[in-house]
Amino acid sequence: MIDVQIIPILKDNYAYLLIGERGKTAIIDPGEAAPIIAELERQNLSLDYILNTHHHGDHIAGNGALIEKFDAKLVGPSKESIRISGMDITLSEGDHFSFDGEDVQILETPGHTSGHICFYFPASEMVFTGDALFLMSVGRLFEGTPEELWTTLRKLTALPDATKVYCGHEYTLSNAEFCLSVEPNNQALQARMDEVQTIRDEGRTTMPGTIAQEKQTNVFIRAESVERLAEIRKLKDEF
Ligand code: ZN
Ligand code: FE
Repeated sequence: MIDVQIIPILKDNYAYLLIGERGKTAIIDPGEAAPIIAELERQNLSLDYILNTHHHGDHIAGNGALIEKFDAKLVGPSKESIRISGMDITLSEGDHFSFDGEDVQILETPGHTSGHICFYFPASEMVFTGDALFLMSVGRLFEGTPEELWTTLRKLTALPDATKVYCGHEYTLSNAEFCLSVEPNNQALQARMDEVQTIRDEGRTTMPGTIAQEKQTNVFIRAESVERLAEIRKLKDEF
């Protein structure tokens, strides 16, 4: 089992610290370095890998300082190798990467950015989705089309229902509000809204979700056609 620790950074981003049984460590999407260095030092840990889902600053800005301090290896999407400098290992669809002896599968998930990837850990039943999939939403389509987003969502929902979903931002409460505006009578969604409201009132994180929950409550996943998906994305942009 891999221990996943959630490190809140910037305004509403999450970086994820992974600690394997054999002692390897990785950080996913370090949008800033200071809180991560502080946490590693507090636990007396070094850093072996940095994994980036996509090239946006709020996911990679801490790379340089972490590499300098810990000599960590930088791992990220081949298709963004021009926009993420200094990658040691570049990965594409279907590639495998080994972390602490555990297999990690790479899913290319374009839409938010053209080269965005997700890291899927089948044995630990978890996926790190960056800004491709949020709990009850998806990232803005900065570089992709609704068709690409459609394919991306089919790929993610093909993962086992029990798969835990860890995403790049704590947007869950406002996402739930948006989903309810689209599907006011969805009972699973109403129940999850209550749950998420309580979690946030208590100042806790809503991560992780699950693929099963997303299928029941994420209106982007639930859109019945590419046209409807495009429409819902537009509604969300204006929400
Ligand atoms: Zn982004
Ligand atoms: Fe982001």
